[in-house]
Amino acid sequence: MNNLTNNNIDDTKTSSIGNTSCEAILPTVPLKSLSEIEKSIQKKYRSELWSPFIRGLKEFEMVKDGDKIAVAISGGKDSLLLSKLFQELKRASKTNFELVFISMNPGFNEVNLTNLRKNLEHLEIPCEIYNDNIFEVAEKIAKDYPCYMCAKMRRGSLYTKAASYGCNKLALGHHLDDVIETTLMSIFYMGKFETMLPKLKADNFDIELIRPLFYVEEKSIIKWIRNNGILAMNCGCTVAAGKTSSKRRETKELIADLVKNNPDIKKRIIQSAQNVNLEKILGWKTSEGKFSYLK
Ligand code: SF4
Repeated sequence: MNNLTNNNIDDTKTSSIGNTSCEAILPTVPLKSLSEIEKSIQKKYRSELWSPFIRGLKEFEMVKDGDKIAVAISGGKDSLLLSKLFQELKRASKTNFELVFISMNPGFNEVNLTNLRKNLEHLEIPCEIYNDNIFEVAEKIAKDYPCYMCAKMRRGSLYTKAASYGCNKLALGHHLDDVIETTLMSIFYMGKFETMLPKLKADNFDIELIRPLFYVEEKSIIKWIRNNGILAMNCGCTVAAGKTSSKRRETKELIADLVKNNPDIKKRIIQSAQNVNLEKILGWKTSEGKFSYLK
């Protein structure tokens, strides 16, 4: 689960989850009406939310006639926004596609679960919440570092549920900052250049995973959530206390620092993943193996 932080650290209240700090994003106003929330997507936040959402959909051809898309809702700010964007798209678009909303409960506590139900009801998102005891299993089989196993199992569970609805696509709420952080973390900590793709085929399912928030900045999502009075789930994790890495947080802070002097730096990092100069790299790898220009 993405830990939620942003550049406006002052706007958030810090709570501690083990080695990492989870920023609880608290609303600044009472909960607004559904129509105000929906209208804000198309009006006040059009350039920050709606336009980059549409840009990503068009550029990467994410939604086509005949698609049946499962939108995965974790309960956090990103997936709540993604659901509302898709509902707006359904109203506005001539493309003939179907939507299904699914939310896997990996073992959330009652407070989080109740809050999730309230949000879904208020936002009129018809969502199936189903149980899959992933937290318990991840903790049992990967006690010290549960995140890798947890993320893998959660993805598998969502693919299975989406397939049971006959969906050919699964939409996740990763946003532009997730993409950039992941890209840099793969260089810094894994010694490889790769990015989070806007769409990819699932290995064991006839489903395509899509990330429609690819161009949407996290700080815009936070503004939308807070200024509409929505209390989204922060981090519902019950197993990773003391076991999660702080690398993502450090990378996020580094990017925030760089942005102070170079406002376009996020744009440049994304561009670099679309602009790899194959004549100026030492080597590359594919599923078939490693290749080098030096041999
Ligand atoms: S164990 Fe917790 S922090 Fe780690 S991936 Fe799962 S939900 Fe996220």
